[in-house]
Amino acid sequence: MCGIIAYSGEQKASPILFEGLKRLEYRGYDSAGIVTLDQNSELELKKDIGKVRDIHERLNLLDLEGTIGIAHTRWATHGGVTQRNAHPHVSNSAEIAVIHNGIVENYKELKAMLVSEGFHFESETDTEVIPNLIEHWMKKGLSLVEAVARTLQSLEGNFAIVVLHRASGTVIGSKNGSPLVLGIGKANSEIFIASDIPAFLDRTKDVVYLYDGDMVVVENHPKEKKRTWRIFDFRSDLEAQEELPRPVQSVSWDLEHAQLGEFDHFLVKEITEQVDTIQKAAAQDRELIENITREIKNAKGVFLVASGTSFHACLSSSYLFAKLASFHINTVLASEFSAYENFLKPETLVIAVSQSGETIDVLDAVKTAKKKNCQVVSIVNVMGSSLTQVADMTVLLNAGPEVSVLSTKTYTATLAVLTLLAYSLAGRYDEGLRKLKFLWNIVYNLTAQNTRKKIQQLADKIRNEEHIFVLGRGPLYATALEAALKIKEVSYIHAEAFAAGELKHGPIAMIKQNTICIVFVSTDTEKTILSNAMEVKSRGGYLVGIGPKPLESFDFFMKVPESDDLNPILQIIPIQILAYQLAVVLGHDPDKPRNLAKSVTVR
Ligand code: GLU
Repeated sequence: MCGIIAYSGEQKASPILFEGLKRLEYRGYDSAGIVTLDQNSELELKKDIGKVRDIHERLNLLDLEGTIGIAHTRWATHGGVTQRNAHPHVSNSAEIAVIHNGIVENYKELKAMLVSEGFHFESETDTEVIPNLIEHWMKKGLSLVEAVARTLQSLEGNFAIVVLHRASGTVIGSKNGSPLVLGIGKANSEIFIASDIPAFLDRTKDVVYLYDGDMVVVENHPKEKKRTWRIFDFRSDLEAQEELPRPVQSVSWDLEHAQLGEFDHFLVKEITEQVDTIQKAAAQDRELIENITREIKNAKGVFLVASGTSFHACLSSSYLFAKLASFHINTVLASEFSAYENFLKPETLVIAVSQSGETIDVLDAVKTAKKKNCQVVSIVNVMGSSLTQVADMTVLLNAGPEVSVLSTKTYTATLAVLTLLAYSLAGRYDEGLRKLKFLWNIVYNLTAQNTRKKIQQLADKIRNEEHIFVLGRGPLYATALEAALKIKEVSYIHAEAFAAGELKHGPIAMIKQNTICIVFVSTDTEKTILSNAMEVKSRGGYLVGIGPKPLESFDFFMKVPESDDLNPILQIIPIQILAYQLAVVLGHDPDKPRNLAKSVTVR
């Protein structure tokens, strides 16, 4: 789940790596470090615990010399958050430096073997075996490339790594189940290897998407002032390594998407961007959506599979598939999907949803589906990501990079795509598209300054609460789940959602004087949810209503115009704003909530 960025070029590397790290911090932020290769061909290393900016204030990362370097921001899996465990890790003779994303599952055996060969270890990480294994194989006479390939062949588990070789300045990147992408400067003037495109988007838009098994070797030729890159498959025979053709593609994302601009935080910027992103998500290639619609119709069993926020989008739209197209769709948490293996047949269709396209639980679910020869459609935001590489068809969310750890604009973009699919399945594509286009104005008002001011009053009132309950019915039950998730992720206030009808089956025991209860209301659920709201009210609860019109029992009301099947896309927005404001007022970092990382690449 960490962030990786490597640079080989003509410019001083440390400022470029520092900027890249700041843009990757959403992937992990317990410690960070940079190693560069200076003019005397020595490795210069600085690393520490904390956020990149704070580390820089303490250590001055920018005085690291040299035009080649690798950098990492960590999300610890093995070994505590300590300076020693921070990456990069360097081999015993300081020849090889490595940064790593993922887990080396067999590191204990590898470490024992290396210790028996006389290697010593500085950290508690699994990562440290990697530079030492490479050194071990080089001592046995293998070339750098062979030693790296041999090392990678021996690692169990998912990873993305970058290696820096002191003597040659060669940088090698490789991936197996974790993300890694190559950025190519004009005429190879500079080469980047990173976990995500925004890390280098200010310098190039030309990228090469790496596939699992790829090992890219970036060689530096200082005399000719140039560098070359070649890609191999590390899994093939060391003697039979053949260069793999991989196209250079241009990304459409703009740097402004990855920069704060006038905003204080990415979270509020991305909430505001929904005015555009919902429209971009709806503007799909009609043929693609109709092809997928045909697959859904012809399939014997359809599964929507996702985790976290994407799962809530799937659950919400399963109601829409039922209502509009009388179609039963199975909605399953990706981490639970293997339990359904016996139902999978070649005629089964699996629609896998993941913002990053790298969520390991979703990738595992797709592996299970592929094993049974199922068709797989992916819905993702990141073009070229692992999920797009294994899916038979892909719908892109087109939301631009989502930097804040909390998913907001990709949640509504996913809802927009699934809404379009449901309408398409009902034979009402044009109507669905028209309705989605109509949302523009409402989203604009919901994210405007005066709405945000009103929600601020609520944030101020509830900031010291310990519990918040959230109720909804039908698709708005999924909205309630998503709202509770947003609030707890970033405010750390316990928030829990219920299908409103479930309240009386237990949770009502928790309601007492002034307990905050958020209620999502739509015209068709108004009557039933009103009685649930009254049950809360009569026990002293404080009701926050979100919906088309104020009900008498509401203590606080946020108007969201009635939009029928599209209510879930709109009604979540005030709560996204509330979650943001709670984080700010409580002094939490809205973009980097504790313990979380954006793309969850560990099980
Ligand atoms: N397993 C490695 C560690 O704990 C890498 C974790 C990461 O992906 O940041 O250091």
